[in-house]
Amino acid sequence: MSESLHIDWTRCRGRGVCVELMAGLRRDEWGYPVVVGGGSDLPIAPGEREAAEDAVALCPLLALSFRPSSAA
Ligand code: SF4
Repeated sequence: MSESLHIDWTRCRGRGVCVELMAGLRRDEWGYPVVVGGGSDLPIAPGEREAAEDAVALCPLLALSFRPSSAA
């Protein structure tokens, strides 16, 4: 099963640790992370699982989590 990295914008304060770790994220004009192409669920590409785990562990506001993804 594929997974996505989910951003909970209700917790996030836009500090940007996750954007530094995940190439598929960018900051919006207010500094909040968004998926390149839009949305709050980043499909985790092969080889990015470790970086995604680091992002979940390092987010100071526990705003990141793994979710099952329907994306292949
Ligand atoms: S690391 Fe957490 S608080 Fe910081 S921008 Fe990412 S989701 Fe938001």
